[in-house]
Amino acid sequence: MAIDKIDTDTESHLMADHQEDGKFGDFGGRFIPESLIPACRDLEEAFYEAFADKTFTDTLDHLLKTYAGRPTPLTYCGNLSEKLGIKLFLKREDLTHTGSHKINNVLGQALLAKRMGKKRMIAETGAGQHGVAAATAAAIFGLECVVFMGAVDVSRQALNVFRMKLLGAKVVPVTSGSATLKDAVNEALRDWVASVETTHYCIGSAMGPHPYPLIVRQLQRILGDEAREQYREVAGEDPDFVVACVGGGSNAIGTFAGFVDTKSRLVGVEAAGGAAMHNGIPGVVHGMRSRFLQDESGQILEAESISAGLDYPGIGPEHAYLGEIGRAQYSFVGDEEVIAAFRVLSETEGIIPALEPAHALAYILRSVKEGTIPRSSSVLMTLSGRGDKDVAQIMEMLEL
Ligand SMILES: *Cc1c(COP(=O)(O)O)cnc(C)c1O
Repeated sequence: MAIDKIDTDTESHLMADHQEDGKFGDFGGRFIPESLIPACRDLEEAFYEAFADKTFTDTLDHLLKTYAGRPTPLTYCGNLSEKLGIKLFLKREDLTHTGSHKINNVLGQALLAKRMGKKRMIAETGAGQHGVAAATAAAIFGLECVVFMGAVDVSRQALNVFRMKLLGAKVVPVTSGSATLKDAVNEALRDWVASVETTHYCIGSAMGPHPYPLIVRQLQRILGDEAREQYREVAGEDPDFVVACVGGGSNAIGTFAGFVDTKSRLVGVEAAGGAAMHNGIPGVVHGMRSRFLQDESGQILEAESISAGLDYPGIGPEHAYLGEIGRAQYSFVGDEEVIAAFRVLSETEGIIPALEPAHALAYILRSVKEGTIPRSSSVLMTLSGRGDKDVAQIMEMLEL
């Protein structure tokens, strides 16, 4: 089924079209146990039906507006622009309820779960950000919520674990494998096999088996569509560069969806320790074919960076595809550049960013210095989340 089943009135916004089997070129697809295939098919069907139903889209729009705080502003960074000699704009997902773009995805998926008559929602989480967002959405929709989280992460992220519990969710520590995010995804898939009748699996990024990469892109494209419209309103054209950080790739794919058919150069920025685009090898993990950090025997490696939200050892399949066909470029930055960028935005613009989008800014700072983003360029960056969650961690590293 083609994506234009959803977006018939915004044909100019069509992304790289996936094929019937959920493939983006050689990437994507549906590599799951037999027992989950009907569930993925049902979900796909429900998704197309829901987005063709005005009652559903109106309800979602209303929630995004009155609960999540959309549309988020586009902010011109006057001070930093002057300093760098470019024009820098930020799409402010940090100003949403719960403080990041993740709310766009979970509200849509929870509404879909409700529509499908599910009573229970499960989710995986690494640092806890998606777990908190999923628990939030489950709370408003009255869904039972269970979040799988690596035992190592549970002990590292006590505050988010407590938040999820406050929101009424149950947190299940996963002790298999390395007891981190990739193991939490496996455990969530295992639960889903046994509970699929009553349960929706709310995946947290533009990854997993078809139709998830498509659903998550559709739910996140609101930020790219808004940004495009807002930018055109102030500048009368499209930006030269569109930059977003990439963990699994949901804020970036939502951003890119708004600009893929323009002349804007699209750049995804990974953490150096999780650079699946550069160091990853094609493989099949978590239900999809994409690029993953692997050792010689195909074991998935741990991604490691200062920012827990970018610690996914793979990348969503559509990014693997956009990179392969050259429509988007992918780069990576190291922790030190990220801390510098975190400080620069705080000091020059009064905005403390999350460490994840600080990666995108670090790329911009470096590219301006190296001249790969030329002077006078216009740059739109997605500020995917606010930095409150990261301040304690940075405080341990910095003497001010
Ligand atoms: C989770 C998170 C990310 C990474 O996830 P994507 O799916 O790649 O967008 C980026 N920024 C923030 C603020 C996050 O919470």
